[in-house]
Amino acid sequence: MNIYDSKAKRLESTLKPCPFCGNDQVDLWPGKNGHVSPFCCCCGATFAEGGIADGLTDDKGFFYDPKKAVEYWNKRKFVKVP
Ligand SMILES: [Zn+2]
Repeated sequence: MNIYDSKAKRLESTLKPCPFCGNDQVDLWPGKNGHVSPFCCCCGATFAEGGIADGLTDDKGFFYDPKKAVEYWNKRKFVKVP
């Protein structure tokens, strides 16, 4: 495990429960360039793939800074998508 992985793992524990289903099984989903996107393992809520992306992310719902991903997940107002 490299430094990046352990840092991301530690940040995952600071993610708040999913606002849609209330599940706390929220992970930082790894993208292909080392960027991440918060992802709910239970209902699939995420910023990725444009689902609920709002222009705050670095690249199509992914963040290059995991800390920023956690911050936005924890403070954003969620809009339920069909
Ligand atoms: Zn959920």
